[in-house]
Amino acid sequence: MQIRVLGAAAGGGFPQWNCGCANCRGVREGTIEARPRTQDSVTVSADGARWFLLNASPEIRTQIESFPALHPKRARHTPIAAIVLTNGDLDHCLGIFSLREAHPIVIYATDRVRQGITESNVFYRTLQRFPGQVTWRSLKLGREEELVDAGNAATGLWLEPVPSPGKLPVHLDGLASADPEDNIGLRIRERATGLVLAYFSAVGRMSPSVRQGLEGASAVFFDGTFWSSDELSGPGLMAKTAEDLAHLPIGGEGPYQQHEPDPP
Ligand SMILES: [Zn+2]
Repeated sequence: MQIRVLGAAAGGGFPQWNCGCANCRGVREGTIEARPRTQDSVTVSADGARWFLLNASPEIRTQIESFPALHPKRARHTPIAAIVLTNGDLDHCLGIFSLREAHPIVIYATDRVRQGITESNVFYRTLQRFPGQVTWRSLKLGREEELVDAGNAATGLWLEPVPSPGKLPVHLDGLASADPEDNIGLRIRERATGLVLAYFSAVGRMSPSVRQGLEGASAVFFDGTFWSSDELSGPGLMAKTAEDLAHLPIGGEGPYQQHEPDPP
């Protein structure tokens, strides 16, 4: 399995457009040892020819250009076989609207995430300009399925969506009730080697399903949005804690010892 990190920053990117915190200022001025990062997205492939994007960040165009394997091989072509969405946050799905240049695209998502994007959303009409512009493939929690390309051919990768404690996208807050399908992690298994990539880009807290999802994985990509709970509230940047924003802080030991049951 080939894995390429296209972006590793939280929503907003680094530096963030409206942020002059010590880190964002430091990276702009070159006074800290850090480099600018686009918002999180990863691409995976078993054969190096057909690639799956894990989430579609607002910076998708730059990210595609940054990696030659994702460049078109003909006048109208893309090596991107499909996009897999783990939730409906804009930093994970806004990129699909940048892929509106009349090319068929395939999106794997839970029904809940699909509904959040397609219903009551006039922007979505830009992806409905011709029949078959977007093909949605429905992910069901706990059901492993083979990832196929746009022509339904096997790609050598299998995907299992894993429920991960999270929250509704901010723009759906108050419009829908929470559901386990709102936020998922992914277990991606390469058939030829049995190797497993565990991809959990948003984890509100540890749960039995998240632990199971990580078990035995050869590589883990895990939500690193926050180091500490008061990262934003401490310096007065925001009143909310990391947990309020459904991100488990990765610093310290405490949070990983907590063990909360999955919702029924
Ligand atoms: Zn900042």
